[in-house]
This record gives sequence, C-alpha cells and structure tokens, in this order.
Amino acid sequence: MKQKIYFKTFGCRTNQFDTQVMISKLSNHTLSTTEESADVVVINSCTVTNSADASVRNYISTIERKNPNVKVILAGCGAHSKGEQLFAQNRVFGVMGHSEKENIDLILKKTERFYQIGDLEHIDSTIVEEFVGKSRAFIKIQEGCDFRCSYCIIPYVRGNARSHKESDILSQIERLATNGFGEFILTGTNVGSYGKDTGSSIAQLLEKMSQIRGVRRIRIGSLEPIQIDDHFKSLLNEPWMAKHLHIALQHTEDTMLKKMNRRNRFATDFALFEEIASCGYALGTDFIVGHPGENESVWQEAIRRIEQLPLTHIHAFTYSKRDNTPSATMTPQIKGDIAKSRHKMLSDLVGLKNLHFREKHNTNLEVLLEQERAGIHHGYDQYYQKITVQSDEDLSGNWVFITQAEAQKEGNYAVL
Ligand code: SF4
Repeated sequence: MKQKIYFKTFGCRTNQFDTQVMISKLSNHTLSTTEESADVVVINSCTVTNSADASVRNYISTIERKNPNVKVILAGCGAHSKGEQLFAQNRVFGVMGHSEKENIDLILKKTERFYQIGDLEHIDSTIVEEFVGKSRAFIKIQEGCDFRCSYCIIPYVRGNARSHKESDILSQIERLATNGFGEFILTGTNVGSYGKDTGSSIAQLLEKMSQIRGVRRIRIGSLEPIQIDDHFKSLLNEPWMAKHLHIALQHTEDTMLKKMNRRNRFATDFALFEEIASCGYALGTDFIVGHPGENESVWQEAIRRIEQLPLTHIHAFTYSKRDNTPSATMTPQIKGDIAKSRHKMLSDLVGLKNLHFREKHNTNLEVLLEQERAGIHHGYDQYYQKITVQSDEDLSGNWVFITQAEAQKEGNYAVL
C-alpha cells in the first residue's frame, strides 16, 4: 500500500536541498500536504543552535497532538546530534542519517523501529538543483566542512568536506543551460573547499562551467578568505563572473577570530577585500555579533574596521549557544540586549555603505528579471543589488540592460 509522506524541513538551504534529494527518490509513496493526513512525517532537522534543537522537539510534540498515530522519522543534522536520545525516549519511530537519504523508499517500508545513522563520508549521487523562475538555478557542488570554528557544530553532523563528481555537475549545468537557464549559483556547506579532495579547485570548476554554451553569469554562495588563491583571482575580470562575492569573515578583530578558531586575520582580510573591490566588485560577508569575549573595546575596534572595509552586503548573526562546541563554555557571555544593539549598528552601517555603492554603480546594469506583478519586476544586477523594474511588457526570465537606475534607500529602481 502506498503511504502518504509529509516532509518538514528546518534550517538552511542545504537542508532544503536534502529534502529534495529524498523527494526525488520516492517512487512507491505519495506526498502529503499536511501532517494530519500523513502516514509518515519525515523531519529534516537542524541542530545549529540549542534553540534549533528546541524547535524540532516542539514540532515533535505538535505532531504527537495533531496525529498521534503517525510515524515520525528524524533525518537531517539533528539525527546526528539528538537522534540517539529522541530514539531512546521513544519520541520518534526511526532515525536516519544524512547518508541514508537516497534509500528513503526502503526506509519508509520499515515496520520495526530503526536507528540507521549511516556514515559521514558519503556523498549523494543526486545533485539537486533549485530554480528561481526559469533562468536562475542553485547547484549544490559539495558537502561538509574541514574547518573547526569554535561556535559551529556543522562538521560534526555533516562530516568533512567532499565534492560532488565534476562530470555530474557539468552535465547537469549543460542540461539546464540548454533549457534556458543562464545564471548559476554554486552552493554547499563550504563551497570554496570544492575540489580539495579530488585534486581540483573551485577556480577550475568555474573555468569549465564558463565554457558551457548558455552559461552567462556564475555566482558563488560563499567563500572563505584563505580559499581565494591566485588562480581564483585571475578569473575576477571574466565577464561571466558575477561582480559580487560573499567572503565569510565572521569577525574583524583578531582576538575574537582566534577565540572563534578562524583561519583568517583582519590585516590579510582587509588587503584581500581592497584588492577585489578594486576590480569593481561588491563584497558581502557574514559576521557574528555577541560571541563570548566580545567586550566593549573589542566591539569598538571591530566596528571601526567594518567602517574601513569596502563592504556592500552583510549577513549579521547574533551568537546563539550550541552545546558541545568550544564556544558554549567560553566567558564572558554577552547579554542579549547588547548583542541586539550591536547587530543593529552593524546592519545600519553596512546598509549605508550599500546605498553609497549603488549611487556610484547605478549605470550599465545587467539584470535578470525574476517575477512580475502588475508591471513591476524584480531582479538582481551583476553586483547582487536588488532592483525593481517597471515595464508594461512581461519581462520575467529575461536579461535586461539598464542604462541608468535610481538608487533608492531600499534598492534600485528603473523604468523600461
Ligand atoms: S567554515 Fe566554520 S562556520 Fe562554516 S561550516 Fe565550517 S566550521 Fe562551520
């Protein structure tokens, strides 16, 4: 008998991809749209912070109320950190690790409780793509991370870095490009480590991708500063490189970078950012505010350095404790309201820098338009700046060239 399966995904884009891998392998079951009508609920869980664990536990309680007879299967990162405990407490029917995703069809047939955690060296044979409209596609090119940042649990639940097969990635891109996709965004847990295990590199992959007919623009989800080598730099002026890079710094003050066990330091980060910005790039970064040890003088120095950096985008995160990581026991902890106000200060400052960048880079924009409603289109230019384009024509999925846009506070605007 066909069972009805409901998938619940927590966490990041990688988890969303993983759910897609499972769905693509379902041949003997159907999808359910609600927990109530499902025979099985598969929770693709996140365990990045203590509160992520709490959300998964609360969700299990909600299902127990809504549909007490349903079988609950715990998958995802939380299966590796909390699976054993939840299984022992009889809160879930089964636990499956990351490596088991492609066996989902068989797993769903199990009639006895199971704990099938698998291994953390596996790499899926399925490369998942996610589409935005008809012309942008995200492609996952690797899994896992070899870094050991003090605050992060990811390497322990996703394993070390390993790359998808180059030939699989390229043939997938070729197929999508033939079907009209022009922009590709490379993603993964630690994208810049692509190829380290196979004698290749992200730069080599980019070069090969660029030779595929139809590939017009390539973006990279995120890179670590030390992954930007001379080969990569030699590609910066290529026309198919999006003129925006996201380079994860996490902090700008060296004592904090050491505490965080990061491999980057501010002096080299600054030189790198200046060099790349001088090639006309918009630059984004991740920053964690309120990590233990970020006292007032450290913070003042950090924000002064943010001011110096040629930054246009920021993903600011407020530090949140994750048990079983070195940071969880570090002191002094930073109070929530202080971290919150630092987060705001940082976002406001980079927001202003973004506006200044857009005021200077508001001509000759190459924009891929994604959605249209009542003549209003949205898209991103080569600098990863959001633009609203007004036009009577339906231009969704089209590349348009904007000779001049107006840099407004919330984003760019143009009429075509
Ligand atoms: S680079 Fe650091 S923060 Fe990012 S996944 Fe690896 S260990 Fe975690």
